[in-house]
Amino acid sequence: MTQVVVPLGDAEPAALLARAARARQLGADLLELRLDLALAAGARAADLLAVLPQLPLPAIVTVRHQREGGRWQDDERARLRLYEEAEARGAAWIDRELAAQREHPWRPTRARLLLSYHAWSGAGQALPEVVAAMRAAGADLAKLAVLVRDAAELAALRALHDRRGPVAAMAMGEAGLPSRVLAGVWGAALVYARLPEDPGTAPGQPALDELLTLYRLRAQRPETAVYGVIGAPIAHSLSPLVHNLGFAHHGIDAVYAPFLVHDARAFWQACGDWFGGLSVTVPHKQTLAALLAECEPEAAPIGAINTVYRRADRCCGANTDAEAVRRCCERALGGSLHGRCALVLGAGGAARAAVHALRAAGARVLIANRTPQRAAELAAEFAATVVPLAQAATAPYDILINATTVGLRAPDDTPWPHPLRPEALVFDMVYDPLDTGLLRRARAAGCSVVSGLDMFLEQASGQFRRWTGRELPMAEARAACLARLAQRSV
Ligand code: NAP
Repeated sequence: MTQVVVPLGDAEPAALLARAARARQLGADLLELRLDLALAAGARAADLLAVLPQLPLPAIVTVRHQREGGRWQDDERARLRLYEEAEARGAAWIDRELAAQREHPWRPTRARLLLSYHAWSGAGQALPEVVAAMRAAGADLAKLAVLVRDAAELAALRALHDRRGPVAAMAMGEAGLPSRVLAGVWGAALVYARLPEDPGTAPGQPALDELLTLYRLRAQRPETAVYGVIGAPIAHSLSPLVHNLGFAHHGIDAVYAPFLVHDARAFWQACGDWFGGLSVTVPHKQTLAALLAECEPEAAPIGAINTVYRRADRCCGANTDAEAVRRCCERALGGSLHGRCALVLGAGGAARAAVHALRAAGARVLIANRTPQRAAELAAEFAATVVPLAQAATAPYDILINATTVGLRAPDDTPWPHPLRPEALVFDMVYDPLDTGLLRRARAAGCSVVSGLDMFLEQASGQFRRWTGRELPMAEARAACLARLAQRSV
């Protein structure tokens, strides 16, 4: 069973006790007293050690050396005196670096010994040997924290959790987040989480409330099915929010995590067999399509997928962006797209899915793009028509779709500075912010609208259906996304 540790580096005993109480209330199992941080912030060691017996949870006491990312610079004897004192005051665990243990072997008499190892240059080292050395040096628990830049490196850390003894191997950095939010699936002995209002003591620490409620750490077991989204960047993705909510809603034993992946091929090779299914986002949609032996008929002409699911023993690719465009338009128009005229702004990946979906549904498609050559290539592939941007204002559209990145996190930028036709449907794929300048103007002009969030939820529901055979709870998912987007705009 993975234990959740909240690190605290407060210098003031009263603040330390208050935050320890909050960690307990939010569901932590252990506290980590980072004496090196507290001492560097001006605390007196005696004051902090006196607090130990009053803590509401068992404590790991850590005096992390500067060499391994901490603030301790004094000599080893002084550090050992602190550890001995902490032990005498009731510390449950002492965290000592493997390097220090090798130089000055030492054992606590009452507390248990956690040996730790920190690396800032990737997981490509001889990590199994590090774990073996920790065990040989008397570790009750081996903890490794390694900075990774690509989620493909996580495979080396996951493999350390064998049945030979307790290990907590975690990755630091944004790409390391899955090692923490999947700690229960990996069988890690410990996972470190920050209080929601804290910045954390290591890069990539998840917030305690998210770990327990969004990722449902307590329900994770080695058999729990793993799903995820791969892309770069990935931190902004709303997909973990909606899919974890869907799994919880249906009581499905599965968890969904964000994977920062730069090299999709390396990731697929190292970690591809972990997953029940994947979402795929920019810039990997084409690469994954090429790596899979099988894609749905609709995805093949687009040449890009946003979904991987398992069919019997094979992986299959799907493009639920395309079906989401069609479904959202049909719903908003109350009928078929056959014979309608759609003007698509943009010629990137999203435009490609939209143009294919619209053409397949019988619509006429006009394409206007900043780079005319890309518009021409897309139009030629799907029998659409190019409209130069300068003449787009007079194009006779029923549906206007923004498939550019204009407006993304820039609500005052607009991809369409021209007047809007009141009888038209205006569809903005951008969902951050939710209320883009284009949508605001469209509503004011009396147009019907489809938002980027409508499309996002629709494409997510197509993924969820393929993975589970169930329906994503759309109202709940929409409410959760709206709350998250509202937080971001504060
Ligand atoms: P992409 O492949 O990078 O394509 C970007 C497009 O935007 C290109 O056509 C590009 O024109 C155009 N563009 C970029 N900056 C521009 C500017 N300053 N002025 C005019 N045009 C500009 O991106 P994508 O994957 O297609 O995504 C496009 C948008 O759709 C993004 O905002 C994305 O978040 C959104 N999207 C939403 C959903 C959803 O579920 N709601 C799903 C997929 C995508 P050039 O060809 O000239 O570079």
